[in-house]
Amino acid sequence: MSINNLNTAISYLKGVGPGRADLLKSELGIRTFGDLLNFFPNRYIDRSQFMKISQLQQNNSEIQILGKITELRTVQQPKGSRLVATFADETGTMELVWFRGMKWIKEAIKINTPYVIFGKTNFFKGLFSMPHPEMELLTEYHKSLRTAMQPVYPSTEKLVNKGVTNRVISKMIQSLFEEFHGNFKETLSADVIEKLKLISKNEALLNIHFPRNQELLTKAQNRLKFEEFFFIQLQLLRKKLIRKSKFKGYPFLKVGDYFNNFYNNNLPFELTNAQKRVLKEIRKDMGSNAQMNRLLQGDVGSGKTIVALLTILIVMDNGFQAAFMAPTEILANQHYNALTNLLKGMNVNIKLLTGSTKAKERKVIHQQLESGELHILIGTHALIEDKVKFYNLGIAIIDEQHRFGVEQRSKMWKKNVLPPHILVMTATPIPRTLAMSLYGDLDISVIDELPPNRKEVVTAHRYDANRLSVFKFLKEEIAKGRQVYVVYPLINESEAMDYKDLMDGYESIVREFPRPQYQISILHGQMKAEDKAYEMQRFQKGETQIMVATTVIEVGVDIPNSSVMVIESAERFGLSQLHQLRGRVGRGAEQSYCILMSSFKLSDDAKVRLKTMVETSDGFKIAEVDLKLRGPGNLMGTQQSGILNLKIADLVKDAGLLKTARMMAMALLEKDPDLNLPENRFIRVAYQELSKDSTLWANIS
Ligand code: ADP
Ligand code: MG
Repeated sequence: MSINNLNTAISYLKGVGPGRADLLKSELGIRTFGDLLNFFPNRYIDRSQFMKISQLQQNNSEIQILGKITELRTVQQPKGSRLVATFADETGTMELVWFRGMKWIKEAIKINTPYVIFGKTNFFKGLFSMPHPEMELLTEYHKSLRTAMQPVYPSTEKLVNKGVTNRVISKMIQSLFEEFHGNFKETLSADVIEKLKLISKNEALLNIHFPRNQELLTKAQNRLKFEEFFFIQLQLLRKKLIRKSKFKGYPFLKVGDYFNNFYNNNLPFELTNAQKRVLKEIRKDMGSNAQMNRLLQGDVGSGKTIVALLTILIVMDNGFQAAFMAPTEILANQHYNALTNLLKGMNVNIKLLTGSTKAKERKVIHQQLESGELHILIGTHALIEDKVKFYNLGIAIIDEQHRFGVEQRSKMWKKNVLPPHILVMTATPIPRTLAMSLYGDLDISVIDELPPNRKEVVTAHRYDANRLSVFKFLKEEIAKGRQVYVVYPLINESEAMDYKDLMDGYESIVREFPRPQYQISILHGQMKAEDKAYEMQRFQKGETQIMVATTVIEVGVDIPNSSVMVIESAERFGLSQLHQLRGRVGRGAEQSYCILMSSFKLSDDAKVRLKTMVETSDGFKIAEVDLKLRGPGNLMGTQQSGILNLKIADLVKDAGLLKTARMMAMALLEKDPDLNLPENRFIRVAYQELSKDSTLWANIS
């Protein structure tokens, strides 16, 4: 094996060896030369300045001093010992202190020899001290590839304890550069480099690890961030291309009686332009010979259900069956009722399959599915878990996709000759940049327009102290014939406590809203499915005016007459959840309200969340704020995706670069879909290297 190979195991690098190699692997995931080369600093500090001990201030910033250790001693303490060194320069003395790794340090330290030390100082009883300083012999300091901007690499306590400090890592990288004589392969084409005025790969790598100045560092970061986005986008877009050419789908070209009869006789309203556009996109997909894989994003209340139904009718016009999955029984029930209602008077066989479906009914469903008599099957997970066999499944519609594991998506089409078309619907708006990375290989449709005459939900933030006036307001609304939700957080930290909060709240509401004048429903996760359904029905029929609930009601519940949403301890909810909950009201013709209750004590983030909710009802804006507050890794559905393990780029801060990268990748594939052109050979080689690392893709297909 040539040593000049980035796939060489890291243990072969000068200064590493097997022990450190194991540490690098377990602590940082670094296995090869290439991993180390692409292990980037997360910040830089200015090391052009030296401090004198007499100039030290009590401000706890990181400083660098040149001096000598004059004495070293171990101090015994009740809780173990510490190692203390007296450190002096020509202006004074201070102490260096170690609590860990003392044996190793004691052996390594040279007395009365010039050292450069670096770290934060403490001040106690007139004496400065520096715990666990970074130290380097002055002679070494002069030899190293050092610049004013010193890189700081991500680290762990274990690494530091075992002596693999920042300086050690920096030195390893220096050895790596020496090993390769600073010659690393270019990975972009001359064309891309030219167009975006990027610096070369070599210069970028050198300046990311050993920046000569701030300007070059910025250029290096820019080049490497672009490159990171570019190759991810290239893989996603190629994956989409390949899937489109490889995965054939049933071509549904016909629009027949089911669709037309419904459109002309049953459609209760005019479609919005956004709904029409999305339907067109879906028709185009299903009319081609490829399998549709489309994500439909639309805010709560934007009218996704009708789009789903119209899609199903086209599938039926082509002689195929449809499956429609929802994340909960309540929602499956609701979809079933909504669709049954819409299809009234039409000869469509539609059935519901959930965990509560009785064995007898189940048998009928199985039979009708296999014979092809059943047109539409709506249900929960039961659809996949059950031994359901479709005669010919033409489409699988999945509502609120993030509630389903990805692998379940593929189980759906096990029984088909060709895979069914897939339409995934979500009411969780995903910021464009995030969608590009997470779902960059899917086609995306967006319903970005609410049905007409929708009044914006008036949102207010109230403190617990205002509770009485809030109750008064609720009574006024109920007197007008409206219904009210009161929602309690369910954080799962302690189910017992959440449950107690809910019950306390329920009791105080029962006291404030006495029977028989008021009727109150309660709904929470620990109830049996049939009890939940019963309470839902009472509320839906208007027999109860107040629904006290946990977040079970979060997704999709549609009761147009309920016009007030009170969210208790609103500071404990995330933004997307608040937005989802608010979406439960504002579905009818009446003015609706959302009241966010909180205590006075609020974290900065909580303040931003509540303020955002009060100021806007645009789900995409809310999602952007959420992304900024929490970072991409914590957003819905992103956890399983390796795509977000970015090395240097940042989805929020570098959104502009991401867009550029996607555009450049698209332009490249348009001209050279298989990366065969000679001018793209560097890109091809780098792409093939990256594609070997299949973990990136394992979870998103
Ligand atoms: P979501 O996208 O949240 O699933 P729904 O499909 O449940 O939204 O639609 C919300 C409400 O808006 C429903 O009551 C539905 O009948 C109504 N609706 C949908 N599209 C339109 C439209 N174009 N015009 C008027 N009302 C509509
Ligand atoms: Mg819905």
